Amino acid sequence: MDGKLTQMNQRRLDKLYQRLAKHSRGLLGYPINQSYDYSDLYRFLEFSINNIGDPFQPTNYQVNTHDFEREVLEQFRRLTHGSEDDFWGYVTNGGTEGNMYGLFLARELLPQGIVYYSEDTHYSVAKTLRLLHVRSIMIRSQKNGEMDYADLYETIKLHRDAPPIVFANIGTTMKGAVDNIGTVQKIFSDLAVSDRYIHCDAALSGMILPFVDEPQAFTFAEGADSISISGHKMIGSPLPCGVALARRANVNRIARSVEYVGILDTTLTGSRSGFSPLVLWHAFKTLGLPGLRDMVHGALDTAEYAVQRMREHDIPAWRHKNSVTVVFPRPSDAVIHKWQIAPHRDVGHVIIMPNVTKKQIDALVADLTKDHYKRVS
Ligand SMILES: *Cc1c(COP(=O)(O)O)cnc(C)c1O
Repeated sequence: MDGKLTQMNQRRLDKLYQRLAKHSRGLLGYPINQSYDYSDLYRFLEFSINNIGDPFQPTNYQVNTHDFEREVLEQFRRLTHGSEDDFWGYVTNGGTEGNMYGLFLARELLPQGIVYYSEDTHYSVAKTLRLLHVRSIMIRSQKNGEMDYADLYETIKLHRDAPPIVFANIGTTMKGAVDNIGTVQKIFSDLAVSDRYIHCDAALSGMILPFVDEPQAFTFAEGADSISISGHKMIGSPLPCGVALARRANVNRIARSVEYVGILDTTLTGSRSGFSPLVLWHAFKTLGLPGLRDMVHGALDTAEYAVQRMREHDIPAWRHKNSVTVVFPRPSDAVIHKWQIAPHRDVGHVIIMPNVTKKQIDALVADLTKDHYKRVS
């Protein structure tokens, strides 16, 4: 062992490289934007960057990128209409952590609260609720994937002694459905609920809605108390990442300081990536808001193209307004495997990210059409 890889192990890495390159190409079932070039940042892999602690507070560990992280958060503050003096956040390990943070904050603020979430909620949330040991009730979904508001109303009404914490899906994983937080707030006021909390899981759509003409509500100005957005989905990142965003006044109420690293221990994890804030910063700086807008509109246009092409071939495809998730009947296992499609019961979907081409759609539609006629004949 001389600190170098043997030729055999070098070859293993070469093989791995080829395998990843091959599987990256046909990926249509998951919301992963793969068109990016972060080579400007490769040299920062030389450092043990660690963004431990609150990005807005000084820390003893100075090999960090907190200043870049704060710039990234400022971008997200604007996109989610956070108020300048009541905004806080940090760059997470992904959407799951942002959701966990939002629910943690809600439970700390409202320890007697009950979390309401729909059947179509991301699978990771049930685990988070167990971990937090918070009371929770699953609400029925409508067929289109949105929360059933009548069920939400009746269920909150039955539990009027406990403050409601609504976990709203801003783009469900399977159908891209957006829960209406305006309707949720109307339910609160109809039932005269004063202590309440809304968390928005905007993993994918949190980077779509700020760029469309008629967005569904999900921002702080529209009633969100916390928001989670993934970084590796619409923006694209070689490392999973995301942001947890919240109201600063709420965060201050639960903050604790730790002497060892001289930090305010406001984040869920201790050591945090200092590289992923650079990735997000690079994306914002190279694309700018106009570039992000073009990217999002390009993906939405291609998604509409996919719906139309499928319908031309008698495949009953559909998508929600402002969604890049194209839903159609579950295809054969061969098609699921070939295009890395994530099925759920009788439904399949493809998620049209900015790197997906019309040529790929045409090839997929050809496969689906063969499937379809096998099924009907
Ligand atoms: C992807 C996704 C998550 C989980 O996000 P990660 O970044 O994979 O941790 C949560 N909710 C929704 C709606 C998602 O689509």
